Amino acid sequence: MDKTEYVNIIEQAPVGEPERQHYFMQELREIVMERSDKLGRPLYANVTTFGCQMNAKDSEKLLGILEAAGFTASGEETSDFVIYNTCTVRDNANQRVYGRLGYLNSLKQKNPDMIVALCGCMMQEPSVVEKIKKSYRFVDLVFGTHNIFKLAELLYRQMTERHMVVDIWNGTDEIVEKLPAERKYSFKSGVNIMYGCNNFCSYCIVPYVRGRERSRNPKDIVEEVKNLVKDGVVEVMLLGQNVNSYGKTLDPPMSFAELLKMVAAVEGLERIRFMTSHPKDLSDELIRVMRDCPKVCRHLHLPLQSGSSRILSQMNRVYGKEQYLALAEKIKTEIPDISLTTDIIVGFPGETEEDFQETLDVIRRVRYDSAFTFLYSKRTGTPAAAMEDQVPEEIMKDRFERLLKEVQRISAEMSGKDVGKVMPALVEGLDDHNPGMVTGRLSNNIMVHIPGEASDIGKIIPVKLEESRGFYYMGTRLP
Ligand code: SAM
Ligand code: SF4
Repeated sequence: MDKTEYVNIIEQAPVGEPERQHYFMQELREIVMERSDKLGRPLYANVTTFGCQMNAKDSEKLLGILEAAGFTASGEETSDFVIYNTCTVRDNANQRVYGRLGYLNSLKQKNPDMIVALCGCMMQEPSVVEKIKKSYRFVDLVFGTHNIFKLAELLYRQMTERHMVVDIWNGTDEIVEKLPAERKYSFKSGVNIMYGCNNFCSYCIVPYVRGRERSRNPKDIVEEVKNLVKDGVVEVMLLGQNVNSYGKTLDPPMSFAELLKMVAAVEGLERIRFMTSHPKDLSDELIRVMRDCPKVCRHLHLPLQSGSSRILSQMNRVYGKEQYLALAEKIKTEIPDISLTTDIIVGFPGETEEDFQETLDVIRRVRYDSAFTFLYSKRTGTPAAAMEDQVPEEIMKDRFERLLKEVQRISAEMSGKDVGKVMPALVEGLDDHNPGMVTGRLSNNIMVHIPGEASDIGKIIPVKLEESRGFYYMGTRLP
């Protein structure tokens, strides 16, 4: 393509979104088809996700755009376009990406036409982008979290200009909808209900890399859920960094509990999950809606972070130990079959053995079904990174081991409590280790292994829980 043709294509692009991106998907398609004709095979693309469900959801959008632009999904080694959707919540997430980049460089040396792209949370850190520009020159495209919807336009630029394209936005109020997405599962799907976070927990980098909280319009959410159901989805997971503050900035404002009722009214939808709930905003109204609506799954992820009120205050979590315990108690009383899970950080600056004992005390009293445990990771730019009394690594690791043991002991006890009961399970896939078996997910988020075959995937079937294996059950099917 000559320069004038390229300039014309850019100038003729619609200004509004998502029309602009559909236009670039079409333009990109022509380039992809041309290359693929020359090679005598499709052009392959791979999206690798690091991090949380939000990133997994973004990756489905990235793959949807790539497929609309003519690429065929494939593995990393065989792909002509590879994109890493990165996470930066803890430093080890960054280190994993740098490690994998070395491997990508070796792939690119074998296939110099391969295009390498990086996007997501880690790219919102200026020091990371500087390092990539300086030390990872083989990377072709870099963008952040706010302009993920622009993949087609940015890739079009890269494929026509043929030099490193970097486009990082500091923030946005924009929510671009109605772009293609390639779902990983046919029967379940994440649905973003909000973006960003306003909580500024003192250890956390998310508000800096994901920007201010923005709620989606409830009508758009319900329409998306209806379309998913038409497409065969029976379970949705409503996604946000703090779903309990959903709708506060909408005009008129509405609560997350109200949204939940609207989503539950969608005919054909069988199950609703949501992530994540901040304990400070979890309302009685939400507990009632969860209790009274059979479609809402019996699982609540309620991050504790620490059991010490002193540390919680330093973390800017806006609740104390007693308040958290009272909330957990209220939830268990109202919804006795609920499964509670949590996130815990050990080694936050200034954490003493007494503070740590408070955390152990909470986990023994709440008795979580499971918990994600994290070593505190210092994130540059967060208030906690500048705090004195950073906890030495050996002490952190020792506490981590003790915490993990306790969490696992309680989990194993909790998992046994439903043996003998009959519960519906959504069959999610074949059991890789046992031919003739499938794995299903119970409403309370615990997995069960049952006899079955590929045609069961996506169905909700009644299962008798025969035996607990610590973190999952072995079950039989009922006729
Ligand atoms: N918004 C959610 C919340 O508040 O619970 C979760 C967001 S974050 C991606 C998931 C978990 O990572 C947090 O709950 C916290 O336990 C952990 N986390 C965040 N920052 C961390 C840090 N600097 N070091 C260790 N763990 C961290
Ligand atoms: Fe991070 Fe706190 Fe926001 Fe969760 S609520 S994303 S931990 S700042």
